[in-house]
Amino acid sequence: MTTEPATAAARSTVYGYPRQGANRELKKAIEGYWKGRVTADALRATAAGLRRTNWRRLAEAGVDEVPTGDFSYYDHVLDTTVMVGAIPARHREAVAADPLDGYFAMARGTQDVAPLEMTKWFDTNYHYLVPELGPDTVFSADSARQVAEFEEALALGLTARPVLVGPVTFLLLAKPAPGAPADFDPLTLLDRMLPVYAEVLADLRAAGAEWVQLDEPALVQDRTPAQLNAVRRAYGDLGVLTDRPKLLIASYFDRLGEALPVLAKAPVEGLALDFTGAAEANLDALAAAGGLPGKRLVAGVVDGRNIWVNDLEKSLATLGTLLGLADHVDVSASCSLLHVPIDTAVERDIEPQILRWLAFAEQKTREVVTLAKGLAQGTGAIGAELSANRSDLASRTNSPITLAPDVRARAAAVSAADVRRSASYPERSAAQRAHLGLPLLPTTTIGSFPQTDELRSARADLRAGRIDTGGYEERIRSEIQEVIAFQEKTGLDVLVHGEAERNDMVQYFAERLTGYLATRHGWVQSYGTRCVRPPILAGDISRPEPMTVRWTSYAQSLTPRPVKGMLTGPVTMLAWSFVRDDQPLADTARQVALALRDEVDDLEASGTSVIQVDEPALRETLPLRAADRAAYLAWATEAFRLTTGGVRPDTQIHTHMCYAEFGDIVQAIDDLDADVISLEAARSHMQVARELAAHGYPREAGPGVYDIHSPRVPSTEETTDLLRVGLRALPAERLWVNPDCGLKTRGWPETRAALEHLVAAARALRAELSTS
Ligand code: GLN
Ligand code: ZN
Repeated sequence: MTTEPATAAARSTVYGYPRQGANRELKKAIEGYWKGRVTADALRATAAGLRRTNWRRLAEAGVDEVPTGDFSYYDHVLDTTVMVGAIPARHREAVAADPLDGYFAMARGTQDVAPLEMTKWFDTNYHYLVPELGPDTVFSADSARQVAEFEEALALGLTARPVLVGPVTFLLLAKPAPGAPADFDPLTLLDRMLPVYAEVLADLRAAGAEWVQLDEPALVQDRTPAQLNAVRRAYGDLGVLTDRPKLLIASYFDRLGEALPVLAKAPVEGLALDFTGAAEANLDALAAAGGLPGKRLVAGVVDGRNIWVNDLEKSLATLGTLLGLADHVDVSASCSLLHVPIDTAVERDIEPQILRWLAFAEQKTREVVTLAKGLAQGTGAIGAELSANRSDLASRTNSPITLAPDVRARAAAVSAADVRRSASYPERSAAQRAHLGLPLLPTTTIGSFPQTDELRSARADLRAGRIDTGGYEERIRSEIQEVIAFQEKTGLDVLVHGEAERNDMVQYFAERLTGYLATRHGWVQSYGTRCVRPPILAGDISRPEPMTVRWTSYAQSLTPRPVKGMLTGPVTMLAWSFVRDDQPLADTARQVALALRDEVDDLEASGTSVIQVDEPALRETLPLRAADRAAYLAWATEAFRLTTGGVRPDTQIHTHMCYAEFGDIVQAIDDLDADVISLEAARSHMQVARELAAHGYPREAGPGVYDIHSPRVPSTEETTDLLRVGLRALPAERLWVNPDCGLKTRGWPETRAALEHLVAAARALRAELSTS
């Protein structure tokens, strides 16, 4: 084993770089490959080129140690599944026949074989593919890709460090394979798993790796003593291997808490810790644990998942404190830069005055390098950078965008009465019944109707200047006419305008609110080849004019039936945007809520009697640590009530969430005080209805009866049966009939048929109920 050089000057590194390429070249190559337009060799060449470009960018910025293995054709957790040989039985044949096609089959499924399940990577908007493990899982090491990519970086003359998902996190993220007992705990496979990691580590060592990083972000969540024991065993066992590289164990997204002393005592050479946001607590915990004598500490002081310029002086102070706590301190971003766009320099639409507040991957890399230099050579060596940084930060603090006094004054004046409806639920319910006159088991949809090619091309035509705003709006109006006519003919009770004008449920509002920024090229990988461009909550938020009233009123003018107004709720607006880092999330949520409240009030004033405020992100934004959840849910539910609290008792407020597992937030759902909630339920056979009932949920609910994730059209009988199950949990007076979620991803033929069946099922049951 090589030894650490005597001069232990701080070095710079990162854990990963955006994979998609500056112009989303990877997305285009992979999708081309799927369509048969790009050969496997061409795809591999594109991928290798992107890896080289990223390493060169890092090296040119001055990064001392570059990551390898952070590239992926789809997802790095799926890559780990391949590395440990945990290919699900149903995919083995395809993987053996062609590893690349088999890989994509695991990710996306095929006609005959289901893909792996996809879920959120901790509390980010990145999705990984869930490993499937069972008592029969046999692991086998496949280090080929890791070794090859490491060698590619070496060939460029770089110092490189392979980055792998750690064994404990991999097992904790896994779920029982189909056929395994439902209560199977994948962590019981640890002893079988460790020899595989030992083999991969030995292979990387043989290829010349001095260090290997093992990512263990699962350790920032609450862990049981047994799980902590598994961590102790894992790194105890790997630590005593002789034929291995030095090990750097990385965690990020929150504080390590009780796992910190466990890792600090493990026989490994280094730890990488997050020191941003909630993870700042790592600093005190590290001091309390006696520091990391004899170890390397990689300090994540540059926020890897948000887009704000770093406060270099603050980071230097943190680094200075850390110098006293470890043998050697290196500088990094808090997590992989996968979660931020690549470069601010290409954002020509954002004013330079604002652009200087932002740092994407390229800028963050430079911040890391600057900090390492400052730490190694003293602040005198980075004087110019520090003074530029000071003025960037000051320009943000003092900008009228950051601080709008009228918005602040209004937020400060919010009273208890503002976050409460003026009448109790029973009074509201009676008033709404009288006002709306809906039948038993009212039917509705969640908001969007199919986003057709015509609609997409209308938007493209507008962007390209082939049509003007007038021409575009004409197309939207005719779409609304069609959607309303269809719903009337089909016999739905509460109609929607169909959301034809919305490209995205967050971006549409972000573009209309002051204080929000949109990027033109700020793509971030969401899953596989899907990239999103999250807008940026940059300043104090206000609403210069109504955002949806025109379309909703137009739709209402076409029909005597109630048309539901449709808004995205404040929590979801935050969850799917980059948020401010200079004030608590609760304050930002309150500003967004006040802007949306004006919209709700204007909708009501223009004659809208039913208004839906979607909060599909309420649950996914739940903090990773249980101890932080109550405070989050308090501000999140308050923001929703502030949005909706200003309407008359006879105006009906709906909300919508699209997931079936909401056990841990049932109380929060209740606290929203919405009159009606629609939820995903078709795939869980109305389990949600039972859970709501068990909780004593007092208001109306529409557990979805049509799974919009599938092209399958449920029959009238099937839908009726599901509703019967729902009726066993909820009384007919409180049960709504609706799909699971919006219809924008569906085609018209299946939408038509499914909604006809849905209405027929509701009518059949109404008839039954009225005779019994
Ligand atoms: N109203 C939105 C729609 O129907 C809701 C989308 C969502 O829940 N993600 O498309
Ligand atoms: Zn939904």
